[in-house]
Amino acid sequence: MNESLVNTKATPGRILQIRRDFPVLERQIHDKPLVYLDNAASTQMPRQVIETVSAYHTYHHSNVHRGVHQLSQEATDLYEGAREKVRAFIGASSVKEIIFTSGTTDAINLVANSWGNRNIGRDDIILISNMEHHANIVPWYMLAKRTGAKIEVIPVLDDGSLDMDQFAALVRKPNVKVVCVNHVSNALGSVNPVEQICQICRERDICTVIDGAQAIGHFQIDVNQLGADFYAFSGHKMHGPTGIGILYGREELLQEMDPYKGGGDMILSVSFDHISWNELPYKFEAGTPAIAQAVGLGAAVDYLNGLDRTYLAKYEDELLAYATKRLGEVPGMRLIGTAPQKVSLNSFVIKGVHPHDIGSILDGEGVAVRTGQHCAEPVMDRFCIPATTRASMSIYNTFEEIDMLTEALLKVTELFD
Ligand code: PLP
Repeated sequence: MNESLVNTKATPGRILQIRRDFPVLERQIHDKPLVYLDNAASTQMPRQVIETVSAYHTYHHSNVHRGVHQLSQEATDLYEGAREKVRAFIGASSVKEIIFTSGTTDAINLVANSWGNRNIGRDDIILISNMEHHANIVPWYMLAKRTGAKIEVIPVLDDGSLDMDQFAALVRKPNVKVVCVNHVSNALGSVNPVEQICQICRERDICTVIDGAQAIGHFQIDVNQLGADFYAFSGHKMHGPTGIGILYGREELLQEMDPYKGGGDMILSVSFDHISWNELPYKFEAGTPAIAQAVGLGAAVDYLNGLDRTYLAKYEDELLAYATKRLGEVPGMRLIGTAPQKVSLNSFVIKGVHPHDIGSILDGEGVAVRTGQHCAEPVMDRFCIPATTRASMSIYNTFEEIDMLTEALLKVTELFD
């Protein structure tokens, strides 16, 4: 890599090349070029993914696992091929450890039910960080209600980092059975030290459930290196389709767990007095799966594998540094989440302006950001704010787009002056 990314506003040619893969980025919104900065909600899909999904629908569409006919076999090969691509992408040891779900939310619900019902009892402690998305809170709250277990919270420091001293103290409590932490916070951008957390938990025989929804699109994941028991993510956060996600689970744990959804495909045999479960991973995939979406996820894996992700991670860091500097020029700006380890996301409030007003005015300028509590109400409470505006970047965003965001925000502050 020869291109200097430091202190420059000119976006490298390699990024402009990547942009050309994403047709939606050519759109005009309210007669202005689209500046898409809502990537933490959903990343855009490249032409390669769109065309793969379209080809599946056009030529191979059928149901999987059931037919002896050619089309069904093609659909099965594509679906199972996607599973293998995901396995290799996250460094899992076996496809038995790769469960297709409808997304991160579904994946965590699966763990909270199938693993939780078996392993959590009265007065056990479920340790959850204060910066979790509701998807990594609500299923555990429901489990605690069912079982009489207790939820305890790992605090967040003022800069948006996890309080690791408090974590070290909490995790020593005798009844801690499971630790639920996101790899990256969708509300703050903080990158949590999940490898360290998993190691501490492993030494104490505590289960780890890592919400990887916001990490998977930004950096390479190796589940074995992380040492997580469960790792969940969504296709639409890594340039794949919606309606598909992954639960990685350690095979030994998945083997012991009962399924929590019943139906076709997840059984070996059924009678009215006995049912035997199918083998992994099918035991957890009841009913006709999201085949086209899984195939699209496989195409997203191929797409990312074709890029230099080390280069892109560095580029995204430069983009974040630039955005942080430029946002600092906006009067009344307060960044929420300034942890030393962050992904390319800035959550902020502007004194005297409601985030929804900011979002609407920005939309008028063609700039798409997210406003609200980002399904992370507890962390909003932690910072004593009702909502933020969130500008979240991806591999195709440019320095020029950050300038456009800044200009649009300066307009907002002029309007509310
Ligand atoms: N966890 C985090 C950190 C997220 O950012 C999101 C989505 O924004 C989710 C979980 C839920 O993902 P999904 O809606 O794809 O299930």
